[in-house]
Amino acid sequence: MSFDFHLTHTDGGARRGLMTTAHGVVETPAFMPVGTQGAVKGVTHSELDALGAEILLSNTYHLYLRPGDDLIARRGGLHRFIGWTKPILTDSGGYQVFSLSNRRTVDETGAHFRSHLDGSAHSLTPEKAADIQAQLGSDIAMVLDECLAHPATEEVARRSMERTLRWACRARDRFLALRDGLVPGVTVSNRGQAQFGIVQGSVFPRLREESARQTVEIGFEAYAIGGLSVGEPPDVMYDMVSRTTPGLPADRPRYLMGTGTPEDLVESVARGIDLFDCVLPTRNARNGQLFTSTGRINIKNARYAEDDRPIDLSCGCYTCRTCSRAYLRHLFQAGEINSSTLNTLHNLHFYLDTLRQIRDAIAFRRFESFRLAFHQSLSRHSHDS
Ligand SMILES: [Zn+2]
Repeated sequence: MSFDFHLTHTDGGARRGLMTTAHGVVETPAFMPVGTQGAVKGVTHSELDALGAEILLSNTYHLYLRPGDDLIARRGGLHRFIGWTKPILTDSGGYQVFSLSNRRTVDETGAHFRSHLDGSAHSLTPEKAADIQAQLGSDIAMVLDECLAHPATEEVARRSMERTLRWACRARDRFLALRDGLVPGVTVSNRGQAQFGIVQGSVFPRLREESARQTVEIGFEAYAIGGLSVGEPPDVMYDMVSRTTPGLPADRPRYLMGTGTPEDLVESVARGIDLFDCVLPTRNARNGQLFTSTGRINIKNARYAEDDRPIDLSCGCYTCRTCSRAYLRHLFQAGEINSSTLNTLHNLHFYLDTLRQIRDAIAFRRFESFRLAFHQSLSRHSHDS
């Protein structure tokens, strides 16, 4: 199967569609759980499958450093190595280089850094990021982009956006050469891999519009919006999404990278986004913070010590069907591994189920009333975190 996308329904700015990849079809709008090391922390692949996850995100930086993309290519690629048969998207590794690595420098060739694991020296160039992802054999590869710190001046943001465009050209050339088998020494583990371009431009509308136009000119299977959810207020992020999506082709999926809260997902779908990933549901689960239809609760709070109710009365997940808040609080306090698993199952179910409700609402052309009810339910109740 080669990469394909078609819209099945639209409702205002919201879109419902089917994204076909080399490892199967994904219903959009979709949320991608993050499996940094080739596993989503706290849950097994079979549990993810049961939750209805259709696509995972995995991190190139981590897999490149350990166990290495060569080793994974020799195992037949990432799908076979980790035992996940459905679609996988890999990031370019850039974000982690910019946020995790030591002694990082960036020049026109790429990013040069030392591993956060053992201090060894590495370079991540647009070509190298494409090569690593070819060896991993993900269904969707991302181009290397420059990740700018927030806030940045417009001048700095422009220079960075322009470099990202030059890197995108190089990444596309390399991707096409890999597809044609013209790069010796690199194993192409998935001949059906697609490559997404990334729109940058910080919080400056004209930079976003220019970046979108020029990234589309290069020509990718689809387009992502990067450099948001980095500390700017939600309204600014929504505005940047609104300014960017009209410049992206309607017949290609649009991926908002690294976002976000449940409210962010609903608001971004309203602005034409189809794909999301975020560590929030999984990371917060391990910290005891649980998402519900009426707001977030923190299970370590003493008020839940003798609370016999489930996390969310309207949730049908395994955790809510079988565990009380009192039990979940006890597991968290005791440092029990099951605490992470049960909390993660609930939070991922909440995210994936919210996307299911969004898709249904779009199909029945009642997305606006869903959106209104969603926000009303959250604001009517008090949050305790
Ligand atoms: Zn639940």
